[in-house]
Amino acid sequence: MIASKARFRAAKKLQSIVGYRIPEKVFSGPFLEVMVSAVDYDNLDYGLREQMMHIFKDFLDCRCRDSPMCGCPERKFTRAILELRMEGLDHRGIAHVLLDEYGIELYPMDIMSFLEESVHVLEAVRDVAEIEGGKEMVERTKDALRGLEG
Ligand SMILES: [Zn+2]
Repeated sequence: MIASKARFRAAKKLQSIVGYRIPEKVFSGPFLEVMVSAVDYDNLDYGLREQMMHIFKDFLDCRCRDSPMCGCPERKFTRAILELRMEGLDHRGIAHVLLDEYGIELYPMDIMSFLEESVHVLEAVRDVAEIEGGKEMVERTKDALRGLEG
């Protein structure tokens, strides 16, 4: 899971603001709990507040009863990476956007392997769809593959 590798660069800073130890892994229970409950956003400096609000808005804003432990944050984050790829960014560009927008660090190499895995999964889905005669699914996976492979 690519989401489990995402680290919050300012974790130490955030830790000193909330006053107790928090992990740097963004998509871990304790970090997500801090995001939704413990932080007084008004007390954060502008950059940090913006990054945390982007994380909140783009990944944590769902109505599941067990949110943020519902799986949506990880799923939305993974999807965001795929969307950036489809917009034409490579693994380095994606790492840059994640850091800039969310303060989230991921090694470009990890992003690259994730994108390669995604391509392999899609190829497998396409092959199954071809065998099963699922024309629409074949076309959709082909479109997605074109998007991912640039
Ligand atoms: Zn959810």
